[in-house]
Amino acid sequence: MRRISIFGATGSIGVNTVDLITRQGGSDAYDVVALTGGRNVARLAQQARDLRADMAVTCFPECYTALKEALAGSGIAAAAGPDAVAEAADRPADWTMSAIVGAAGLVPGLRALRHGGTLALANKESLVTAGPLLMQTARDHGARILPVDSEHSAIFQTLVGEDPAAVERIIITASGGAFRDWPLDRLATATPAQAATHPNWDMGQRITIDSASMFNKALEVIEVQEYFGVDPTQIQVLVHPESLVHAMVGFRDGAIMAHLGAADMRHAIGYALNWPDRANLPVERLDFARIGQLNFRDPDPARYPALVLARQVMATRGLAGAVFNAAKEAALDAFIDGRIGFLAMAEVVGAVLDRVSHETSLTNAVISLDNVMQADQLARDCAAQIIKKSKQY
Ligand code: NAD
Ligand code: MG
Repeated sequence: MRRISIFGATGSIGVNTVDLITRQGGSDAYDVVALTGGRNVARLAQQARDLRADMAVTCFPECYTALKEALAGSGIAAAAGPDAVAEAADRPADWTMSAIVGAAGLVPGLRALRHGGTLALANKESLVTAGPLLMQTARDHGARILPVDSEHSAIFQTLVGEDPAAVERIIITASGGAFRDWPLDRLATATPAQAATHPNWDMGQRITIDSASMFNKALEVIEVQEYFGVDPTQIQVLVHPESLVHAMVGFRDGAIMAHLGAADMRHAIGYALNWPDRANLPVERLDFARIGQLNFRDPDPARYPALVLARQVMATRGLAGAVFNAAKEAALDAFIDGRIGFLAMAEVVGAVLDRVSHETSLTNAVISLDNVMQADQLARDCAAQIIKKSKQY
């Protein structure tokens, strides 16, 4: 039986992963090694019981007792804290879902890759933060990374059987997020609750707000560069309000292959779970006569400054991705807490990138875990200072 682990099992991607695994036979079909989560220990314990996992881990030490109690009598081991999450990744698995949100997903992902096998990567932050390190670790251990972002899964599928050298350009689409139709001058007043509603996708709170600001698409553009090794000039973003075309790949003979599907993450998760086969997945089948039309437009850089910053990061490379992601996480925390406004997020991230790149050379640094962690911390400290000082936000 295939041994599987799910990091971030209680979140939006995690719950969808558990749903597919359950539909595909659950504990009769899979040997579930470890499930990890956060404060929702009731859900984590229930998932662990349902899938007969060997162990369940919460990343919060203070949740240990509650998790242990919820698992009492089940024979499932309980553990807590960031180290326990990383140690859960040391337990050999053939297929691991990386669906923790944020840079906290990096270390478990790296440790899971050491078993060889497959890392289904939803945690885009680890690729943006330390893409070359993840890719090298996968190569060193004969492991495979399969994308679980809808756009990147779409590109991956479009490239099956194709010569990568024949790729001319890659287009990823963006819904435009919660505020795509708001007048620009209203954006400054947008609240976290307003930003956390998505027109098309049902996702975790952080990625939903990142969709409204397009920081999510900024991370994804960098993700394209890391996964597919194309030049930044070959990557294009289009606003596509219907969210049905996930990505398009243009080839040198002028052909464009598009990947379409319902806005349901179970497609990308299910593709990674069953790869290289295609399983029967519980996603809506599109009816094009009813859909009628698909719309596309260029994103307005004034509305979405995060996309401009992503270009800066791709030009710098090195540790710029680690700085960018960490600054974005800090700015997002500050927005959610009401310390800064919606538009200030991009201003903070831009200021951190400028300041940190003046202090250290980001470009030529070796991408080791230590260097990445240092750059991440430097960026968070710098963001905290900027947020504290800037009363105008
Ligand atoms: P979520 O907030 O719904 O779930 C996050 C999970 O990570 C939870 O299980 C939570 O307990 C756990 N977690 C949070 N902080 C942690 C920490 N510090 N250490 C360990 N575990 C922690 O998030 P989500 O929407 O499921 O997104 C997960 C990842 O997948 C993100 O990287 C996101 O960008 C990516 N992704 C999500 C979607 C989507 O549809 N939700 C689509 C594409 C990519
Ligand atoms: Mg995506």
